[in-house]
Amino acid sequence: MSVRDSQRSRVYNAESPLFYGEGARPYLLGSTRDALEFARRIVDFCAGEQWPLRLQPHWAAPRLEFTERMSASGRYTAMKDGRDRIRIRAGMLNKVLLIHEYAHWAHRWLYPAIGLWRCVPSHGPQWASLYLILAYHLIGPGCYSSLVRRFDECGVGVHAEFLWMCGLTVSSALQEAEAAA
Ligand SMILES: [Zn+2]
Repeated sequence: MSVRDSQRSRVYNAESPLFYGEGARPYLLGSTRDALEFARRIVDFCAGEQWPLRLQPHWAAPRLEFTERMSASGRYTAMKDGRDRIRIRAGMLNKVLLIHEYAHWAHRWLYPAIGLWRCVPSHGPQWASLYLILAYHLIGPGCYSSLVRRFDECGVGVHAEFLWMCGLTVSSALQEAEAAA
């Protein structure tokens, strides 16, 4: 069973300025080696004590692969054996894109039973909140503020309570974004 992923196109719209053109510049990774290193930091963060959600440590790091032959920028695939896969298009080495895909992985592992995970939308408010939390801790408050502002402009819903439990608020980020503008 799967549910309608009604926020997906709004999410893609919201994040596109961070993926393309000038707006992408702060987030570009120079090589696949840099991308692998950044991915390792994401996994370490999620497995460590500082991960605000205290997820189970048994989850396996996904396989990260780079490919020329893919129309999408990135793709996360949950695998039955628990060793999930993330594929990134070779020309799209971007920290925010990696955070997007690893948030899918973290989202899946909030639900140890894969059947339950399939009952929530892939790009729903819960996933969007994980995306913001990872962006805050692994890229920084500036990226977090940019994403919050774009989510707000594009109508991407987040779970404010979920963010609050992790020490983040949406309104303070919007204030930071205004102050920086
Ligand atoms: Zn996605």
